[in-house]
Amino acid sequence: SKAAGGAKVSVYDDSMREETMLQVKREHELRQALQRDELKLHYQPVIHAATGNIRGMEALLRWENQSFPSTGPQEFIPILESNGLITEFGEWVLEQACFFAEACTTDNWRPVVSVNVSPVQMKKPGFVESVRSILGRSCLAPEQLELEITEGTMMDTSRKTIQTLELLREARIRTALDDFGTGYSSLSYLRELPIDTLKLDKSFLKEESTDRVGKHVTDAVIAMAHALRLYVVAEGVETKAQAEDLKSRGCDFLQGYCFSEPLDPESFKAWVKLERS
Ligand code: C2E
Ligand code: CA
Ligand code: CA
Ligand code: CA
Repeated sequence: SKAAGGAKVSVYDDSMREETMLQVKREHELRQALQRDELKLHYQPVIHAATGNIRGMEALLRWENQSFPSTGPQEFIPILESNGLITEFGEWVLEQACFFAEACTTDNWRPVVSVNVSPVQMKKPGFVESVRSILGRSCLAPEQLELEITEGTMMDTSRKTIQTLELLREARIRTALDDFGTGYSSLSYLRELPIDTLKLDKSFLKEESTDRVGKHVTDAVIAMAHALRLYVVAEGVETKAQAEDLKSRGCDFLQGYCFSEPLDPESFKAWVKLERS
């Protein structure tokens, strides 16, 4: 009935209002967090499947706040994206990650640091310039930086996105397509993208363990990626059995709790030292 419909709308409005107020509150808290140095990057090792060597690490943002210990990046990054703060944050993330990777570099270990880039950030004019300038300041070799971009970014602005990817390639900066398998990727569009790496979403592994067809899909994706001369990284590798299995099927790099969870910078350095000794 009309009355019931009306009631529904007003309930919906109330929850919308609450949502907006929470958003404003979180935004204020995030600005404070940046000023108070509560945002930190953690680093998760990425392993070369064939040798067990450490390829490098993915930088993952953490918000260390006593009152909201469980606020993960999945919750606060959309807030930063909706108010434009992500560009400022994104540059800070890149800078931290590049300086850290440079500090980890030795004569016999040149880690690749993978940094997540928001679509909003990548579409800003001057994005490639700002990455190059951060690289220059950090003294990190461009080959040691990999930018992770999600499928969503790739889809909407094809021409502009490809141009940006080409500029990054000219600068010898690596690029990865993140969360592969969660969007609308097709073979034809993958062929168009000047990228270096494909990151299989963790949902691939979940489906694999319960589904025999899942294994064939993963094999097909690895074969396709290799035909396109892309490296394949599996993320969310939680067990030794999964790691062995992916290795035997030609997956290039592995990342997940099986090796290590994301670690604070000092713990990451200690972990690397132990693993490489
Ligand atoms: P992502 O890029 O797909 O990152 C991988 C996520 O999987 C991370 O979640 C990581 O902690 C988690 N993970 C790692 N190993 C395992 C495993 O073995 N099993 C399972 N179940 N999960 C595992 P996290 O740190 O909560 O980050 C969530 C998302 O937030 C990231 O997904 C990324 O999209 C975004 N994000 C994180 N840091 C940044 C950042 O600095 N900038 C931007 N733009 N986005 C970021
Ligand atoms: Ca990522
Ligand atoms: Ca991912
Ligand atoms: Ca993800």
